[in-house]
Amino acid sequence: MSTDRTRNLLELLIKVNREVASALDLRTVLQRLLFAAMQNVGGERGSIVVLNDLGKPVDATIVYGSTFHEQSTQQLRETVERGLAGWVVSNRQPVLVPDTSKDERWLRRADDANEQSGAKSAICVPLLARDKLVGVLTLVHSVPNAFNDEHLELMTAIADQASIAVLNARLYTESQRTARVMSALAESAAAINKSLEMQDVLRHILNQAMQALQVETVGLALVDPNGDLVFRASAGQNSGNIMDKRIPAGVGLAGKVILEGRGIVVQNVKQDSAFSAEDRFGGIQMRAVVIAPIQSHQKVIGIIEAINPTSGTFDADATLVLAGLGSLAGTTIENARMLEKMQDAHHHYRELFEDSIDPIFITDWAGKIIEANRQAVAFCGFTIEQLHSMSMDQMHEVSWSKVGTDFEVLRAGKDVSYESVLLKQDGGKSPVEIHLRRVEFEESDSLQWILRNITERKELDDLRDDMIHMIYHDLRSPLANIVSSIDMLNVMVEQDASVLAMLQIAAHSTGRIQRLISSLLDISRLESAQRIIVQKPILASDLIAEAMRDVSPSITGRHQTLVTNMIGKPPLLWVDLDMTHRVIINLLENASKFTLSDGKIELGGEVEGEWFKMWVRDNGPGILPSDRERIFEKFTRVHGKERASGLGIGLSFCRLAIQAHGGKIWVESEPGKGSTFWFTLPISDKAQTGKLLRQTGRLELKEFGNIP
Ligand code: ADP
Repeated sequence: MSTDRTRNLLELLIKVNREVASALDLRTVLQRLLFAAMQNVGGERGSIVVLNDLGKPVDATIVYGSTFHEQSTQQLRETVERGLAGWVVSNRQPVLVPDTSKDERWLRRADDANEQSGAKSAICVPLLARDKLVGVLTLVHSVPNAFNDEHLELMTAIADQASIAVLNARLYTESQRTARVMSALAESAAAINKSLEMQDVLRHILNQAMQALQVETVGLALVDPNGDLVFRASAGQNSGNIMDKRIPAGVGLAGKVILEGRGIVVQNVKQDSAFSAEDRFGGIQMRAVVIAPIQSHQKVIGIIEAINPTSGTFDADATLVLAGLGSLAGTTIENARMLEKMQDAHHHYRELFEDSIDPIFITDWAGKIIEANRQAVAFCGFTIEQLHSMSMDQMHEVSWSKVGTDFEVLRAGKDVSYESVLLKQDGGKSPVEIHLRRVEFEESDSLQWILRNITERKELDDLRDDMIHMIYHDLRSPLANIVSSIDMLNVMVEQDASVLAMLQIAAHSTGRIQRLISSLLDISRLESAQRIIVQKPILASDLIAEAMRDVSPSITGRHQTLVTNMIGKPPLLWVDLDMTHRVIINLLENASKFTLSDGKIELGGEVEGEWFKMWVRDNGPGILPSDRERIFEKFTRVHGKERASGLGIGLSFCRLAIQAHGGKIWVESEPGKGSTFWFTLPISDKAQTGKLLRQTGRLELKEFGNIP
């Protein structure tokens, strides 16, 4: 190479370098480089494709004469995958094609039709910066053999000089883009979070999407419980057609975005097979779309769709921006949903509060009334204004023993109930049951007082007491008279067997009436938790013998057999004699009543630790598993095939009586084969017996027939 030529070349390279490196914007750098190449090397047409670190084309500049052309990403991909540029990318070597018609590597494109006029010559060189391939530059001359090795050499020299500038410009553009996306998202985040009302949130998201992507129309769909996508908001041209549109789960491009959880861009919907008829909206001529998932807590809850960019094609970062918006939107939509739920719950509480049939007061922790529902106002007679200046303890006596000093029991999160009397505005008083609990009321930590008017219940209690009183005095004493009269008659008519038999029947029946009355009385007294049992020692064998004596006549009369089964030495029990006697009689009578003639009944007992475990076994119809607990409830009668008479209070008395002794009663049964009622009675300890002996000087082991 001559010195002149060398100097010229150097001058040229310095000039090109100065021109190219003085710009930072990638497009400008590419255009300047391409012009310099065409001016100094030759050719009518040229292109530069820029590659990213992964070797994927990210930008390109194409010049025909003096005009620039844009190329789609798809076209760029084709260029570097196939064709001459593709060869250079894979071989990282410059190439000279003197005659394109004779070179296999030359790619003929459909849109090159006008160029098919004939053979051309071409030069293609890699742009290598610090051993990194940053792009390929191609020059095309319309005449074959117009380029030679010298041109190739010159082009390579220019490329070597300019590559670093291309790399810098690419990096600069990338950082600019990242910054743009970041600031767009930051701006959007602020705008989207302005409100938490669902409709506002959706509107803000769509506005941001429209602004960031510069599109004609946007839509937002959420996944409904069936998995279908339903469009909930839209904005822009013809957006009315989008609202409420439903796309079945997994269908079309939208379905694909949901399934894959990542955004998709389609620059030309006509050329994309994934874009289905379901993805279309009536009245909108769809050309290009970006769809991004809306994600919340790693779950896709919907999509945002941006339709038809005003510039014609979407920028490379469109998916990135929309996906970013999608994740921002996800959290905000979830928050808006939570708010809606909370508002609903609050509204619901308000309704319940107002519609409750019970009076409800809400107070602060000093008991000052903040709110009272309609029923509360009506019940106490004060106006709501008066109530607002009152506290709960002005209307009733707070049970401080229950709620604790300064409501500490409620502060610990426990609910409290107690009975009290409400002083009304008119001076009247009503008995009330108060249910007190800690609640959140209109965002403040409050106390909720639900009052239940128990006037009626109190009246019923009084009535019951009157009834018990009546039974006690008005029925029991005449009955006792009848019993003693029958006893006397027994002595008087000693000789007359037929009269004696009649008297025995009368004695037996009055005995049953007496037991029934006593059980009724006991039930009501045991239920009101009165301690009514009077425990004394008795030998288990005596208790059993006494029961056998009372029920054997009627059992043998029904042609049933009654046997006892005492295992081990009979212990001394510590029980209310009359009550336990009635329990055993009840169980034996039931066993007899529900078992057919010829049945077998067994009364047994065995010591088990500190308890004497007894049983009454029959071979009757048995009891269904579903009834085994129920039969111990008051007035429960289970009707089998045969209808036996009874009130359904026997077993509930038995349970209350046994429990009053600290024992347990339960039934085991095999339907069709019989039932066994088990119960436990306390065994007397020496101390108890000793104490009684010291008090009375004797041990009364038998004390039947004296109804207390
Ligand atoms: P009543 O005998 O007055 O009906 P109970 O409380 O004594 O009331 O018994 C409740 C129900 O339990 C009876 O109606 C009966 O259906 C069932 N039951 C009680 N004992 C037996 C038993 N030994 N065999 C079968 N069913 C029984």
